[in-house]
Amino acid sequence: MSDTETTKPRHFIQQYIDADIAAGKNDGKVATRFPPEPNGYLHIGHAKSICLNFGIANEFNGTCNLRFDDTNPGKEKEEFVASIQEDVKWLGFEWNKEVLYASDYFQQLHDFAVELIKSGKAYVCDLNAEDVRKYRGTLQEPGKDSPYRDRSVEENLELFDKMTTASFADGEKVLRAKIDMSSPNMNMRDPTLYRIRHGVIHHQTGEEWCIYPMYDFTHPISDALEGITHSLCTLEFEDHRPLYDWVLDNISIDCHPQQIEFSRLNLQYTIVSKRKLTQLVENNHVAGWDDPRMPTIAGLRRRGFTPTSIRDFCDRIGVTKADNSIEMGVLENCIREDLNEITPRRMAVMNPLKVVIENYPEDQVEQLEAPNHPQKEEMGKRTIPFTREVFIDKNDFKEEANNKYKRLKTGAEVRLRNAYVIRCDEVIKDSNGEIIELRCSYDPDTHNKNPADGRKVKGVIHWVSAVHGIAAEVRLYDRLFTQANPETAAKDGKEFTDYINPDSLQTLSTCYLEASLDKVEAGERFQFEREGYFCRDSENSSNGKPVFNRTVTLRDTWAKIEAAG
Ligand code: ATP
Ligand code: MG
Repeated sequence: MSDTETTKPRHFIQQYIDADIAAGKNDGKVATRFPPEPNGYLHIGHAKSICLNFGIANEFNGTCNLRFDDTNPGKEKEEFVASIQEDVKWLGFEWNKEVLYASDYFQQLHDFAVELIKSGKAYVCDLNAEDVRKYRGTLQEPGKDSPYRDRSVEENLELFDKMTTASFADGEKVLRAKIDMSSPNMNMRDPTLYRIRHGVIHHQTGEEWCIYPMYDFTHPISDALEGITHSLCTLEFEDHRPLYDWVLDNISIDCHPQQIEFSRLNLQYTIVSKRKLTQLVENNHVAGWDDPRMPTIAGLRRRGFTPTSIRDFCDRIGVTKADNSIEMGVLENCIREDLNEITPRRMAVMNPLKVVIENYPEDQVEQLEAPNHPQKEEMGKRTIPFTREVFIDKNDFKEEANNKYKRLKTGAEVRLRNAYVIRCDEVIKDSNGEIIELRCSYDPDTHNKNPADGRKVKGVIHWVSAVHGIAAEVRLYDRLFTQANPETAAKDGKEFTDYINPDSLQTLSTCYLEASLDKVEAGERFQFEREGYFCRDSENSSNGKPVFNRTVTLRDTWAKIEAAG
């Protein structure tokens, strides 16, 4: 364990497990599971659950299963099964043995349902969905017993068998637990255990089954069959815990995991609900599940986030029972800190303005050296070609400015980073008055190898050789929504999609990168000096240029947004 781990206070789930171990529960064993439904890509909220479940297993020398909660075949896909495995691995975790599926247990689940019927604790009900709702009552009023509640065991066995062998249509019958229609907990009012689904092909079991077990029945049994000791889930399942326990208490199974709930992660200016993220993808509000603006693991990866930064984030936000909404700045600080350590520095010009250095020989190319990291000599050096024509950023030049302006202005000097001091002698404009070129001169005595050149030049700007620079497209990202909590903001006929930020993607298609960036693999990360941290995208632009995504700016721009309200 590192120092920070030993000094960090233990969260309530760790304390709970400490106590179980001290009491000799489960023979001191710890087994957890991460149970995603394969109906979408994993998001940053799932990362919290993954880090918790796998983290607990690692910490206590236990195991963590990856189990797909695949009881809803209509919405599930093999694509999601594959992406979820990829994302868990990418985050740096290894699941116990092979991948598991709740559908592996369909036969056992069925047998347990039969056991409940035989002991008079489950019945087949013919009420349609709407009547089931009506009979259930409300929080204020108790429910009413279904007219089918007192069917005999024999009749129930026969009807359930017919449900299984496709004798009934969808919705015609369900199997329900016989618990208590007047329970103050709505989940205990004879919950549905099985429903009929024809015409769907399950990604694992094909057309083998036409009845599918409900989550509340499947989950406790799957946990118990796997010998899970601590079943960690989010707070919305707190009210389901009595049902979780009821199921296990009423079937013959000798394992009874402890369900423990923790609060979900909410992240400001984005959304962490698979259902809503699906809407963003299906309605083309974003370019796909891995759009770099998405809070999905795939999106964050493509944006340039590292697994370390996401694990660090999950560690910093902690595990509690309190509902919370985390500022985006917290996540961004995590990636910024990691990238500051690991990325090589490069120069890239976002909005090029040509500079002609008139006293520099026309065909001369100088290979200047620059460190890859200002504090880490071990990261080595790279060479940067210097030529008579270079690009600087339009934002680094003003025709006139006061003395506080540290960049280039007419008649004044600035240092080109890792190179020479130049002075702007003349500004060239087009017929619209737009500045299209600067005529400058350089001082050969101010080479970067000679930092003690005695020059008091205030500003340093970045640049790229106009001859050797690599044309590229750069994509800058802003928050995906204009509201901190788009879901709660959506009232009075407004949808959360009404708060999508129209400026969340800015494409700069005429950028130039320094020559050392000519062969960069997808996923490689850099700091473009003064501009932020960037990651090479897996695709090229429509006109064949390499694309770089800005992962994060160099400084926290969110603080400003918060202050402005
Ligand atoms: P969504 O509403 O996004 O579909 P879900 O809970 O339905 O989320 P699952 O695939 O069932 O998605 O989630 C797998 C596990 O991840 C569950 O244990 C769930 O509690 C947990 N999880 C999902 N969202 C979050 C979140 N925002 N914060 C923490 N844990 C989460
Ligand atoms: Mg779920």
